[in-house]
Amino acid sequence: MEASYCIWMRQLKMATTVFRRTTTTASLSSLIIRLPSSKPILSHLFHHHHHRRRRSISTSATSPSQSPLSQTLNHSCSSNSGVEDGELNLSDSQKVILKGMRYKEFQNWVTSQGYRPAQALMLWKLLYGNNSKSIWAHSCEELEGLNKDLMMMLSKRAKLKALQVKDIITASDGTRKILFTLDDGLVIETVIIPNGDRGRNTVCVSSQVGCAMNCQFCFTGRMGLRRNLTAAEIVEQAVFAQRLFTSEVGSIRNVVFMGMGEPLQNIENVITAADIMVDEQGLHFSPNKVTISTSGLVPQIKQFLRESKCALAVSLNATTDEVRNWIMPINRKYNLKLLLDTLRQELSLKHKYKVLFEYVLLAGVNDSIDDAKRIIDLVKGIPCKINLLTFNPHSGSHFQPSTIEKMIEFRNTLAEGGCVVFMRPSRGDDQMAACGQLGNPGELQAPLLKVPPRFQTSLEPLV
Ligand code: SF4
Repeated sequence: MEASYCIWMRQLKMATTVFRRTTTTASLSSLIIRLPSSKPILSHLFHHHHHRRRRSISTSATSPSQSPLSQTLNHSCSSNSGVEDGELNLSDSQKVILKGMRYKEFQNWVTSQGYRPAQALMLWKLLYGNNSKSIWAHSCEELEGLNKDLMMMLSKRAKLKALQVKDIITASDGTRKILFTLDDGLVIETVIIPNGDRGRNTVCVSSQVGCAMNCQFCFTGRMGLRRNLTAAEIVEQAVFAQRLFTSEVGSIRNVVFMGMGEPLQNIENVITAADIMVDEQGLHFSPNKVTISTSGLVPQIKQFLRESKCALAVSLNATTDEVRNWIMPINRKYNLKLLLDTLRQELSLKHKYKVLFEYVLLAGVNDSIDDAKRIIDLVKGIPCKINLLTFNPHSGSHFQPSTIEKMIEFRNTLAEGGCVVFMRPSRGDDQMAACGQLGNPGELQAPLLKVPPRFQTSLEPLV
């Protein structure tokens, strides 16, 4: 086994075990401070509770799934510099990030500041566009109709926006790629795929900066993992999509977690973000129109299917462990049998739920009729649909897309075998906005893995 692969898998293993659940709703609610009077004076509470709270807060300070509220309290507790004359004067990084909270936590926070639940609901609707004027508020000035004291409090203590637009690039087919700068200067990409005629506009969101999975056909995988996105950073991508493009392309009704990153490696934040997206008083996406995609992290698939109402997509992309071990190294940890047996078992516990298998056709690698026949056997007993995807070439990749004739033949074989199968055209590929083309790997790239000898003639030489 190649040395570079071993190093990479070690990193992969570390990354998959680090991001476990560390902050629960219960621990969050224990951090929420309730005030006896309607006038919020948090500084007293910080003085009284500073020592008692400090230990429990700091233990979760490095957790990627830490709630925005606990982050803020931690900042406040570790420094008294922002507390003046009984009023908080918080810097931007110390403020509560509202978009990382489910409605219940959000309402608890607003009421803990001395305001009514009805005011919390009004604010929630203004942030998420569920109001007559379709305002996706990003600043206090945009909080039309909200109580002035509440606006003042928010301007001092809360952040309404989690991302900054860096650039918007339009591809020839109308697909837009938005580059967002995060607070720490890193950049993520989000894609808007308009499909106005059929009312199926889609936003493709990122869940991590980069990705640790190193799928060999994916540009993002070459970046390695930089960090997980917070729930707020994920939700905000969908908010921005609505805010920037609804008037132009119509409402966006689909969300796919198929941008940068392996969503289930950031499962706590992803489930939280998806819950916020489907809230009926807020963004109100239908749960079956919010699809979380995974390369096949088996324990997290189980957790997701048990905890979330949203849809699941699994990138299959190969029909033998030999090929999948090569093009999707996660298969060396969770092989095809384990992955598919898990889905078969978990889906038997769910009602009317279908998993979506994605299959990128790579010329001479996974596009034979034998592959199609193997898929028919592999997915037996799993309620599913299959999406056949065109490979989108990028620099540093030696794969080639299958021809359209080959894709049609492949699709027909699956359909004749009783599978529900779709062919999805590539969108936005001329601007590197298509599937597997996002991100900027830079100089330090994840290694390309050794090609099994029998596939070497099918691949293009690397330039
Ligand atoms: S295909 Fe998805 S999981 Fe695989 S490297 Fe790319 S972003 Fe990561």
